[in-house]
Amino acid sequence: MTKGNRLKVLFVTTELAPFSKVGGLGDVAGSLPKALSQAGVDVRVVTPAWPGVLEKVAESGLKTTNIKTKVYSAYDWRIHSAQIVKADVKGVTTYFLKSDDYSGAMYPSQLNYWTASPFAIFCMQALELKDAIDWTPDIYHCHDWTSAFLPCALAWHRYYRQVGGKSIMTLHNVAYQGIFEPSPFLEASGLEPWSFSSSTMEFYGQVNLLKGGIVSASAVTTVSPTYANEIQTYESTRELSGILYQQRSKLRGILNGLDTKYWDAEKDKLIPKNFSTKDLKGKTACKRELLERAGFDTENDAPVIVGVSRLVEQKGFDLVLNGINEIKEMGAKLIILGSGQDWIENGLSQAAEANPDCIKFFKGYDEPLSHVLYSGGDIFLMPSVFEPCGLSQMISMRYGTVPVAREVGGLRDTVFDVDRPEGGNGFTFQTCDTEGMLWALRRAVERYQNKDAWRDIMLEGMREDFTWDKSALLYRDLYQDLMQ
Ligand code: ADP
Repeated sequence: MTKGNRLKVLFVTTELAPFSKVGGLGDVAGSLPKALSQAGVDVRVVTPAWPGVLEKVAESGLKTTNIKTKVYSAYDWRIHSAQIVKADVKGVTTYFLKSDDYSGAMYPSQLNYWTASPFAIFCMQALELKDAIDWTPDIYHCHDWTSAFLPCALAWHRYYRQVGGKSIMTLHNVAYQGIFEPSPFLEASGLEPWSFSSSTMEFYGQVNLLKGGIVSASAVTTVSPTYANEIQTYESTRELSGILYQQRSKLRGILNGLDTKYWDAEKDKLIPKNFSTKDLKGKTACKRELLERAGFDTENDAPVIVGVSRLVEQKGFDLVLNGINEIKEMGAKLIILGSGQDWIENGLSQAAEANPDCIKFFKGYDEPLSHVLYSGGDIFLMPSVFEPCGLSQMISMRYGTVPVAREVGGLRDTVFDVDRPEGGNGFTFQTCDTEGMLWALRRAVERYQNKDAWRDIMLEGMREDFTWDKSALLYRDLYQDLMQ
């Protein structure tokens, strides 16, 4: 970086909302770059054009340009090329890499040398991009194991380690690490033999890409201050806590923000009726629509508990399944939208079948429907076992849907119990068990009966600042620190 020039940062991400999103990483990649750009950083984004991505880009009306030069990388003793498709996404120059390497499912169900290849190839192509676009990043900002090969390559690749450049590894969820057999990956990837040792990428005899990324990156961030502390000791890291503790001097916790223009009860076109802190009337219409879609009586004023989630152990749905009878006894309705592990999907389907008048399970991933749940619910349930940041609780608050959440990770940094002396925006519990969750839910359901008190809690959440403004400045500070 020369003096007076803006810092150049390339966001290297395998998810990008709204074109390719599995969870919070997609949301962050789709909103943080814009905030960084507004904070004066010259940020650009590179992402694979997974199946359907370019179609969604076209549908959204964005103009794309094919860059004349392709990007090449050497992997598995072959040259892999990708076409570079450029688009301006919310004011941020974004490069979609189109190639046969990205023509399979976005994330493989089984990780091995073959299924991990697209992620290594993508990282090398991200490093090669600079020549094709005539723009050399000062910093490569990488996200999760899927782009963790990039810092590893800058440190240990027989060619890329001479290229130079700083890297940041942001951990959106340490539970997913990219672990697989080392052979023939090490030879095929071009990494030096010493990249595979206990102080580098080796992990119980396997390759662990996230571990490699953490060790080799110039800095490591994670998505909330509490999670930054927890992962140095907490079991959710699947035994990476020792490494994270050892690397703690380069670890910072920076809370995620939201795209508050997209998640906006006042303007959202995907909800039945808009509403705001000044006029909450539209929320009643949203609730009615949700009850109708769930097949419930629309005249009933029972509190509606909603959840929008990946259905994996992390999200604590075993507590929900164990507490179904008590939730029914509270006189509440429960409406869940999600997809994931069979045992949770089956459990929710069975609970809904057995209780068609008060439990509804929408199985699948459905972005428009998620807006109906966020806006139509009264209570948003998030009993996570661990939660790096969590966006859903923030989204729900934007729509006046009061969170009931476990005090863990980013939930602890964003949801504050109303029964604290200083008040709060939701209901929280500490112990990771059904009783703990039911204790918080009961308090919420009881409080719901007091309409004025409930309105105050809704307004408290709706008024929270979930923009990226503060956090973008913290990332900018980090970029500047790295360039000192
Ligand atoms: P995670 O990244 O662990 O999945 P977050 O709370 O950080 O959890 O982000 C989840 C994001 O994915 C939110 O935007 C949420 O609305 C969305 N989401 C999760 N499951 C679904 C689903 N089944 N349908 C639509 N959106 C979903």
